[in-house]
Amino acid sequence: MVTVICTFVDSPAHKMAGHPEHPQRFNLMKAWLEKPPYKGIEWIESVPAINEDILRVHSSEMLLSLRIACSMGLHEIDSAPTFVTGDSFDAAFAAVGGVLTLSRRIQNGTRKMDEATRGFAIVRPPGHHADSDESMGFCLFNNTAIAVADALTKGLKKIAIIDFDAHHGNGTESIFWDEPRVGYFSLHQERIYPGSGFLDEARHAKGRIINLPLPLKAGDTVFADVCEKILNPWLAEFHPEMLFVSAGFDGHFSDPLTSLGFSTQGYYQFAKELAALADKYCDGRLLFIMEGGYAPLALSENIQAVLCALAEGDSYPNSSGNCSYKPVDIDERIKKICSLHDLKIPSIL
Ligand SMILES: [Zn+2]
Repeated sequence: MVTVICTFVDSPAHKMAGHPEHPQRFNLMKAWLEKPPYKGIEWIESVPAINEDILRVHSSEMLLSLRIACSMGLHEIDSAPTFVTGDSFDAAFAAVGGVLTLSRRIQNGTRKMDEATRGFAIVRPPGHHADSDESMGFCLFNNTAIAVADALTKGLKKIAIIDFDAHHGNGTESIFWDEPRVGYFSLHQERIYPGSGFLDEARHAKGRIINLPLPLKAGDTVFADVCEKILNPWLAEFHPEMLFVSAGFDGHFSDPLTSLGFSTQGYYQFAKELAALADKYCDGRLLFIMEGGYAPLALSENIQAVLCALAEGDSYPNSSGNCSYKPVDIDERIKKICSLHDLKIPSIL
């Protein structure tokens, strides 16, 4: 039986009335703590991160300025807007701790020994916009980047991050801009916040930093194309020992902030394919980390669909229905990526 280890950090005191990144995003998932939706899901109690963890990625000046900002109580710290409260500093440490707790377990796990190699850190505040020196885009610390940096110090030689949040993970990309041991792939909606993630923006990092900007309403067919034509050939060349997934669900067609026209079924299928890729290239080591997603009903259903895929469960809810958008052809963009990164172009193109 597959075991999927999970943490739940909903940070109820980190909130600002009317802001989309609100603890209510997690309300529907609370019932899972008593009754996990699938066999094999195991909740792990996490411990907050410590300064040393945060400083693997962020500057001491940033840590101090965030501490001071939080001590001033509820206010906005940028125009995204990103907010902090008197409780946000602790919330940020708790979110990082949730990811680290799972990451440290998974990086030591092997399938042969029947140890857990799959996990989902359901945490907030999110992280992928925060760079070394600045919190931004609803993100305080970069949860994923900290866990990746931690795994490198603990002996993993190469790691790949796959980011499917609808926004480009500018913070994660910049933190690992010159780190040859970390690969980064992002798919995201083009021409929206934070304004980065262009197809050819990381020419120095051929075969390592890959960006796929997508048109609005791109649709679920993107996922199969990405797995077959980009991720499979890329991971075969890059040889990561663990996959970290920055899992944002704001690309869902019902999301109020953005829409790539993805559906719950699409996320389910993508998670299954990512698990298969992790099995093929990383001895199964796969950690999903929560990023965005601002339609609470769709968010809980999308996360449940991912858990179903990871736990090899039977069925998942989909009351938000299917997306009626016609899929958009992205073949030209994929061809360009294959050429920029020397990925073997499949004969089908
Ligand atoms: Zn997002």
